[in-house]
Amino acid sequence: MEPSGSREVVVVRVADGAEELAVLQALNVSPRPASGRNVGQAGAKVVPVVNHLVPAVCRIGSAHDYALRVIDVSEFLAGGPGRSEQRGCSDSCLRHELAILPLAGVTDQAILLTEHLCGGAVLSDIALYQGLPGSFRKVLVLFSPQTPADDFCRALALLAQHDVSFGVLSADDSDRGRLSLLKSLLFATVEIRDVDQIEDLASQAIVDRSITGATGGPSDRDRRILLLSGHGNSVDLGGRGVVICPRTRPDESRSPGNMTGLYPCFADGLCFRQPLFGRSPASVEGLSDPALFRYPVVLLLGCGTLPLDDRPFHRSGTILWRMAESGALAAVATLGAFYHDLNVEAALLSFLLDGHEFGTAVRLFNAWHRASYGPTSPAKEGYGPLVAVGHPGLRLKSSLIHDLGAFRTEEDFPVSIPSDAIPFSHKGRAILKFRSTSVERLPMALHAPRPLKGAAISVVLGADDESLIFVALQTDGMTALEEPVELSVLPRQSFERDLATLRDALPYLGFWRLLLTAASGPLAAALGPEGERLVADIGSLELESILLGYLSARPFEKDGALPTSSTIAVHMLVMDRWRNWQRLVLDAVCLYVQRTGGFLFHAWQKLYARSCSDGGHQKCPSCTRETSALSYHSHTDPSDRHQILHCTVCGVLGELPPAIAVRACDPIEACHGTLTARFEIKSERSASVHGFLTLIRESWFHSLHDTVEPTELIIEAGGERAFSISLPISGGLAPGLYPLVLVGVLNGGLVQVRYHVSIVNTI
Ligand SMILES: [Zn+2]
Ligand SMILES: [Zn+2]
Ligand SMILES: [Zn+2]
Repeated sequence: MEPSGSREVVVVRVADGAEELAVLQALNVSPRPASGRNVGQAGAKVVPVVNHLVPAVCRIGSAHDYALRVIDVSEFLAGGPGRSEQRGCSDSCLRHELAILPLAGVTDQAILLTEHLCGGAVLSDIALYQGLPGSFRKVLVLFSPQTPADDFCRALALLAQHDVSFGVLSADDSDRGRLSLLKSLLFATVEIRDVDQIEDLASQAIVDRSITGATGGPSDRDRRILLLSGHGNSVDLGGRGVVICPRTRPDESRSPGNMTGLYPCFADGLCFRQPLFGRSPASVEGLSDPALFRYPVVLLLGCGTLPLDDRPFHRSGTILWRMAESGALAAVATLGAFYHDLNVEAALLSFLLDGHEFGTAVRLFNAWHRASYGPTSPAKEGYGPLVAVGHPGLRLKSSLIHDLGAFRTEEDFPVSIPSDAIPFSHKGRAILKFRSTSVERLPMALHAPRPLKGAAISVVLGADDESLIFVALQTDGMTALEEPVELSVLPRQSFERDLATLRDALPYLGFWRLLLTAASGPLAAALGPEGERLVADIGSLELESILLGYLSARPFEKDGALPTSSTIAVHMLVMDRWRNWQRLVLDAVCLYVQRTGGFLFHAWQKLYARSCSDGGHQKCPSCTRETSALSYHSHTDPSDRHQILHCTVCGVLGELPPAIAVRACDPIEACHGTLTARFEIKSERSASVHGFLTLIRESWFHSLHDTVEPTELIIEAGGERAFSISLPISGGLAPGLYPLVLVGVLNGGLVQVRYHVSIVNTI
């Protein structure tokens, strides 16, 4: 059975009003008195349009549910396609409850054409919108290159503020403008079976300068969404070896003398994006012309892909303008900077394909994006970041969403879905959907077996606290999956605790790098050749950039975006990496202490500012007597602070990270060749503290030192921990007092406390 909205629309090219009348009479339709000419009929399957307003494009789309056929009037009158059609009204959803809002600069002709193509009420002023009945919750905004950007933004802000679903269309009297309106307004539904991405254009990016329109036979692409992401703007977009650039073909409207608002590549053919892909600027390899897109829906997810004005980019250079000639009926474009990841993509596809009208899907997405990703520009202003370009009532029908139907509560997890029960598309995509209780109670993790990539989002729709969860899955389209897909409840707090720890540790990374790589630094000199590996590892900025990048992604902090399996895998890798770094730093410190018997304080004190004010009171790590600490601050980073303790009674000299106190529980004594020391460590830091500690009995240059494998510790924020370290003591030592140093690295901060231990009798 055909979907009710599916059809082919025949556009008859007529030369003048007389021919138009002939077509209308043949269709038993009389033109509305006020309509003048050049107009079609709402819901009609045949639309007469004056000849010069329709470019010589034979077919737009070729799947039968959306095909625009342009024929000559002679062919039509001779009994060609559409001749026997009755005036159809199957596309009722496109006609009712629609308000048309033409912004300044849109011509009367364009308004008239729009009104007659899709019906609805034309609003002469946006202020009138508020007086309309509630059923007009759908607005088609018409704009033109002459529309001031401020007017456009004001209209969008007002509509967003009133929770109205809307779509925008550039409406002008150019050939492309007319064609764009025809395409966008004549089709009610389009079926989507799959999703292509920017790299899929690589095979299609053949520049054929002889083609003047979108032609060709039926194609599978007519039933796919094209999802484009990458760096770009309204003029071009580049990613994964493909540059979408309208300059791929010379255009009649672009004379070399009139290149204002266009990239220089439009004039000289040298594309600045090509070198980013390792190609010569003059190369046409990988260039893709938006006019040749065969996709009914194109998602332009670069930054600022919706042109608002003729400045700074002239519209004749924009992707959307070129797409007017393509097979696209609708697009989603961005305003301002747009943050894009797998969850964002999952959310947009889920809303678009879950049966909502186009305008509603984008409105729901925007609300979700603002709640999950926080204010971006211009979401901060209350609208965007995405704008539906096309008829707001368009519906995308899709088999990509697999409704699991069941209502799940927290107790039902983990949920395991056999891979072969998931209907993957040809390209290996599927979106699972199910209902659940409030998402706050259900933070989930996703195990997606390789080579599957998965992302999940949740959204609360309606007031009954019920949320929908969409899980978007993407395989490589070739490898069969053996393991099931698993969804489980995630101990989110433990991941968030890790992130706080990483943030707490960041200031110390620079400290250690400086200390180890300063060419004439005493630490590097003392470490000698043995320390070279440590210096190379710690001196690298790699960990810093990994941590900064990872923390900036806010991997576990987005409401409504559930951590994916790759997020969790990355988390483990990052934590491991950081853990190893702390071990490495501790190795360097131990090496320094063993070689020099030195106190690390002397290695860095000349690089820090000694605070003249009181450094606060600390308890002596040995006798617990209150003693005042010396406070040192980094000149470059005030959060990089060090505290030096020196007990005037027991002679303990120490350095501790701020807000961390250490105490030796009992007098430290050695017996039977082993020394066991018990410590208590108390943290008043706001993040939990993670690190390693060890003991070194210094040799005092009498013999070799003694040390032991470091102990790993985690202390909760504001928590306390007791731990003991056993140190084997070498035999044959001369009796006497030896320095015993507790050395550690906690969240990157140095712990070095020198006690004294009396060695009486060793075996
Ligand atoms: Zn960007
Ligand atoms: Zn270019
Ligand atoms: Zn003391």
